[in-house]
Amino acid sequence: MTTRLAPSNIQIIGNELAIAWEDGPETFTTFEALRKACPCASCCGEPDAMGVVMRPEVRYTATSFELRGWQLIGGYALQPTWGDGHATGLFTFRYLRRLGGVAE
Ligand SMILES: [Zn+2]
Repeated sequence: MTTRLAPSNIQIIGNELAIAWEDGPETFTTFEALRKACPCASCCGEPDAMGVVMRPEVRYTATSFELRGWQLIGGYALQPTWGDGHATGLFTFRYLRRLGGVAE
């Protein structure tokens, strides 16, 4: 049986996204760290035919690190909307926990 990694509470505290997880731990991730860890293709690149990932040069603006809101996707991921309109990054709960320094 696998532990279900689900947030029981998500809120913004200062410039951090604070998540309380159903199994106990809490994680705090700054907006900047969160945005820089955005796993979408335009931030992280996609592997080419040889499996080589060319990391694109990402330009951030003053509003890039403003978290406007988020959506929960299918009970497994969180999709933030950023001040500059970027909203294609899907952060799985597993990934969010790792970003917050909590092992599974
Ligand atoms: Zn992105």
